Amino acid sequence: MAGDPLTLHRPPAVTPLVDPFGRTIDYLRVSVTDRCDFRCLYCMAEDMTFLPKAEVLSLEEIDRLASAFVRRGTRKLRLTGGEPLVRRGIMDLVRSLSRHLDSGALDELTMTTNGSQLARFAGELKAAGVRRINVSLDTLDEAKFAHVTRWGRLPQVMEGIAAAAAAGLHVKINMVALAGINEDEIGDMLSWTAAAGHDLVLIETMPLGEVAEDRVDRYLPLSRVRRELERRLTLIDLPDSTGGPARYVRIAETGQRLGFITPLTHNFCESCNRVRLTVTGMLYMCLGQDDSADLRAVIRATSDEAALDAAMVEAIGRKPKGHDFVIDRRAARPALARHMSVTGG
Ligand code: SAM
Ligand code: SF4
Repeated sequence: MAGDPLTLHRPPAVTPLVDPFGRTIDYLRVSVTDRCDFRCLYCMAEDMTFLPKAEVLSLEEIDRLASAFVRRGTRKLRLTGGEPLVRRGIMDLVRSLSRHLDSGALDELTMTTNGSQLARFAGELKAAGVRRINVSLDTLDEAKFAHVTRWGRLPQVMEGIAAAAAAGLHVKINMVALAGINEDEIGDMLSWTAAAGHDLVLIETMPLGEVAEDRVDRYLPLSRVRRELERRLTLIDLPDSTGGPARYVRIAETGQRLGFITPLTHNFCESCNRVRLTVTGMLYMCLGQDDSADLRAVIRATSDEAALDAAMVEAIGRKPKGHDFVIDRRAARPALARHMSVTGG
């Protein structure tokens, strides 16, 4: 006899990953490469040494690991890097992972990119089910852009962003606030994003990895940016809906949404729902702590998915309550030795 059709089509029950502080971990960020075609001042040194190929997860290994998280309730996957769109075969991975969108297991498959390759890939991303992307853009001034990214060229990125919008991707612009570089441009960036229909998120610099720049000089507290914006505009706080580190306001005058990511001036850890996988298969339970779990060792040792699952559960059991970033004038070293391009932003 036929069963209840609803029961028959219900996906298998998922046991979510819950950390010791009761936070459900349902967001995985995956760094798919440590390489990049830019050398942003705050992110990389100019003469970066990249990982040997044997250390880097294959696309199949990334798929296996990400899919294991999806089985345990991950609803959102973000591909990042390095620059994800310079990884050879990246679209094969995106298309493969999109099966979890089709099955309904995943709500969102998305990407953070510098935009340099978007003109080429925007259409394919949209066709694979990607709906929104984050594009990092710190300035609209060509000379400053070349200075900040060292190797990047603004027109190429603007073309990429236009291609993304034309393909129907919703674009969120990530702008790292840099004292003495782009602090006078936040108004222009707001006007441009409002006119183009993009969201804007401002990010404070984080002390990750050795770079040539002095971060103390570049650190621009967003509390100050906000105060300055409030002299001209009415910012209305929006309730936190993402569970993420961004706090959003609506600008009454334009209706535009503006986000602030303030790891240093606002502690967002209590609502943290995410973990990060590096391209070497290390799972970082917190962007601001050094503890990690070597999932590459597990998947290269066995094809047993239960062993992988056990390793994931053990790792989530070590997720710390929070981070302790400080940009310290006295400390010559960054708070964490690894670069953002290793863990993924
Ligand atoms: N290459 C891609 C991009 O630039 O969007 C993805 C990787 S990048 C590491 C991700 C995000 O991290 C970017 O928005 C970048 O601006 C940000 N980022 C890199 N280093 C940072 C730092 N030290 N502090 C704050 N944000 C940083
Ligand atoms: Fe590359 Fe992104 Fe880092 Fe800039 S921020 S160097 S684009 S990985």
